[in-house]
Amino acid sequence: MKNYIVEDEWNIIESGFDPHLNKISESIFSIGNGLMGQRANFEESYSGDTLQGNYVAGIYYPDKTRVGWWKNGYPEYFAKVLNAANWIGIGIKIGETILDLNKCEIIDFKRVLNMKEGYLERSFVISLEGNRQVSVVAKRFCSIVDDETGAISYAITLLNFDDELTITPFIDGDVQNQDANYDEKFWDELYHEVHDQSAFLGLCTKKTNFEVCTGMQFDIQTEKGQAIPVSRKITKEKYVANEVKIRVQKEEKLTIYKYAANLSSENYPKELLLATCHTMLQEVADKGFDKMLAEQAAAWAKKWEESDIVIEGDVAAQQAIRFNIFQLNQTYTGEDARLNIGPKGFTGEKYGGSTYWDTEAYCVPFYLATASPEITKNLLIYRYKHLAKAIENAEKLGFNNGAALYPMVTMNGEECHNEWEITFEEIHRNGAIAFAIYNYIRYTGDKDYLITYGLEVLVAISRFWSQRVNWSADKKQYVMLGVTGPNEYENNVNNNWYTSTIATWCMKYTLESLDYVRIQSPESFMELTERIRFDEFKETTEWKSIIQNMYYPKDDNLGIFLQQDGYLDKEQVLVKDLNLSDRPINQKWSWDRILRSVFIKQADVLQGIYLLEDQFDEDTIRRNFDFYEPRTVHESSLSPCVHAILAAKLGDEQRAYDFYLQTSRLDLDDYNNDTDDGLHITSMAGTWMSVVEGFAGMRIKDDQLYFHPFLPVRWQSFSFNIIFRGSVLNVKIGHDGVHLENKSVTPLTVCIFDKAFEVNQYANLYVANSDSKSEIQI
Ligand code: BGC
Repeated sequence: MKNYIVEDEWNIIESGFDPHLNKISESIFSIGNGLMGQRANFEESYSGDTLQGNYVAGIYYPDKTRVGWWKNGYPEYFAKVLNAANWIGIGIKIGETILDLNKCEIIDFKRVLNMKEGYLERSFVISLEGNRQVSVVAKRFCSIVDDETGAISYAITLLNFDDELTITPFIDGDVQNQDANYDEKFWDELYHEVHDQSAFLGLCTKKTNFEVCTGMQFDIQTEKGQAIPVSRKITKEKYVANEVKIRVQKEEKLTIYKYAANLSSENYPKELLLATCHTMLQEVADKGFDKMLAEQAAAWAKKWEESDIVIEGDVAAQQAIRFNIFQLNQTYTGEDARLNIGPKGFTGEKYGGSTYWDTEAYCVPFYLATASPEITKNLLIYRYKHLAKAIENAEKLGFNNGAALYPMVTMNGEECHNEWEITFEEIHRNGAIAFAIYNYIRYTGDKDYLITYGLEVLVAISRFWSQRVNWSADKKQYVMLGVTGPNEYENNVNNNWYTSTIATWCMKYTLESLDYVRIQSPESFMELTERIRFDEFKETTEWKSIIQNMYYPKDDNLGIFLQQDGYLDKEQVLVKDLNLSDRPINQKWSWDRILRSVFIKQADVLQGIYLLEDQFDEDTIRRNFDFYEPRTVHESSLSPCVHAILAAKLGDEQRAYDFYLQTSRLDLDDYNNDTDDGLHITSMAGTWMSVVEGFAGMRIKDDQLYFHPFLPVRWQSFSFNIIFRGSVLNVKIGHDGVHLENKSVTPLTVCIFDKAFEVNQYANLYVANSDSKSEIQI
């Protein structure tokens, strides 16, 4: 765990430069706008340890999977979000010295991610040979207003000498993915253009043939308004640049403004990319850096108004939650149903930028409550559009009759993971996809979704489960063999409780949904059942039999559900018995040892209890929590938030708070020693859940919002907005009670500690809580 980020409510601050932390900071200070994003690499040269990363949404490469023994059903490729052309580059030479923070004395260094206004600022003072001191202030952002563009202002001052500066703004498309399976480069050049103050580079991805046109335009200004010499044009393969030499005097600030646009063939016809890039770039350059930044700040203010969580009395917690919300909003805007949320967003290559079950299990609750329902609907439709591929995917594995197995890792609906032994059998992802449909409808009330899209997906998923179980003559029950649950520290186990439970839940929900659609829209029902050749009687009878006769491992003595058959045969040691030097076990132990151990990577049984909470009484939840929590190492970022929510439900406020801190500052403090290769974007939604579902105890039941709040001891209050059924509700929890403000025209009924209150349009309501929390006065 590191502790170098300076605490501040609105800014992420790194003060002083430690090259060992640079890759971590490159991740933490990443910027993006949903369509493109990048790590916090430097504009000028840097010869130290760095992971260069510029990404364009939806652009990927199918990298042939590396595998020893090829088996049927194995995915052909691992999809990779591509490291795309570097558009931020500005080479700086001072006299004959290349500016490189790895090769000079750094007197002062500061990096600030201004989350309120959405930009990154880096400032430093260095000393070159002969005590020549130079100061730089660089600001940049990916615009959320002109969302295919970015802008940089790079101000350089020679503090105690005059010299010639050589300034080289460039676009470099000769980039690589660090995680390429065969060390290949994935881009080919199509065209380039270099003009006096602008340059363009057209690149095409190998195999997938996506085209991206990256353009840059620059402007250089000195304080004294010197005339800027015409640039020298430079081209190399996949590289374009302009070089400007200019003499500057001591203390005279020179500012380079660089504007860039990244346009992809996902959004424009290929033949129009270059021309559109010209126009777009000219438009933003005409607007200018300051105006663009002012618009950026205004657009971020609006986003914060919708999704901020305000915490009073705890700066570390406030900074952390804003960091998580900021990064989520930088990653996915929900406007394009072809896009999804990669576990690392635009901050690194790991997980290939592909879609995982993380989206449905973790991100959906965040977007449901903080954005318009259309955004979550787009996430659901993304899976609807992949249904045919999910059916194909199941067929490859030997299933039939329209059974669908959604991929564990995907870009375009095809399975494309790299690690057979782990992810292949994680069929539980089908459950999360079905649960997200239920969650969306429970939250929005949009039951029509079942008619238009949802039911078809649910039937295909239930068909899969019904074929994936088998009858055990020995147990006289249905069993599910050879699966991997969410806990990836167990592979290929029999009867994972979570998977079996979510499977039968899916079948039950599909049966209910069939009834709903049959009654509400008989025509759609007929159309669908005929199209998918649904033998209603036969198939539903089989599902009912599975629901009634499913085997779920449990231990009656302990009164717990068993993660899988044989879990209690393992040596029952606890995480507290582990030496610190053994942590994280995935970096210290052999895979063999991990698989045999009792240790749980992430919530598994507890994940099921979290999702299906209403099915269990509090004692059952407590017994399972008390058993599994001490065995969980939380080496997946997705884990602590589930534990935080359950601890809060069980009234263990301190532990809920500890898990919250762990989840919310996971990347800021590099808890798991892995922030260098990217941020854990999808688990950031889990952080939001820890506050809203954990501390505020928010649930949706019977079409209503419920809160069972408590205030962490260190906090004076916390507040957030919830968008629910056309209303916007501000909820503030303080020592004295709960303050509600309905910010919309639609009146709302809200239950606090199970008592219903009517909150009228544009009205405030204050619910004071007595110490016992049970007596509430208005
Ligand atoms: C977790 C998975 C998750 C993946 C991507 C893994 O470490 O175990 O549950 O889907 O990361 O976030």
